[in-house]
Amino acid sequence: MKTIGLLGGMSWESTVLYYQQINRGVKARLGSLHSAKIVLYSVDFYEIEVLQHRGDWEAAGTMLAEAGRSLQVAGADILLICTNTMHKVAPTIAAAIDIPILHIADATAKVIKAQGLGPIGLLGTQFTMEQAFYKELLHQHGLTVLIPEAAERAIVHRVIYEELCLGKVESASRNEYLKIIDRLKAKGAEGIIAGCTEITILVKQPDLDIPLLDTTAIHAAAAVDFALAT
Ligand code: GLU
Repeated sequence: MKTIGLLGGMSWESTVLYYQQINRGVKARLGSLHSAKIVLYSVDFYEIEVLQHRGDWEAAGTMLAEAGRSLQVAGADILLICTNTMHKVAPTIAAAIDIPILHIADATAKVIKAQGLGPIGLLGTQFTMEQAFYKELLHQHGLTVLIPEAAERAIVHRVIYEELCLGKVESASRNEYLKIIDRLKAKGAEGIIAGCTEITILVKQPDLDIPLLDTTAIHAAAAVDFALAT
């Protein structure tokens, strides 16, 4: 079994899910007392969030590249950046390490294509919804991506930082998300990417009548496949 490196803490509310889902995935495949070989570097998300909102992606990239190197030294065979947003600095991290990065958008696009879905709605932080680094990759996989209107994007973003990353689950916010998802569906979305690793803490597949692509679960499952591949 190969060792999975988790660059987490962004936020730790979703890193917990990665740890649990990867271990459950290995147990489901190997049975008995088997569990995953994982090394985890968990950052102080406060420091990252300050840099994000200041637009200092260079400093954030340098910080995460350093963490990535630590994971490599600790024995990781592959690196997972446990947040969609910080894939913005994936090239900086990749340049600092020799092990591969399992990209969350690549893994998600593969699942969407396997399901044969057409236009896909994207929810995430404003960075993920508005900037090119994430959508570009989905486009490269041949996907058509729909994002919410500006005011809706502000709501989705606020709920991520002021609630989900702090472990708060508010039913009013769930209703807001479901309204936004409905409007994406009305625009033609055949599925919704939960493109922030905390979104499925709030909104789950049974709340929707179209597929919800859980990037945390997809990323974790892809890591299990990598670790157990012979
Ligand atoms: N975990 C979130 C994501 O997947 C948001 C936190 C962050 O900005 O990293 O984008």
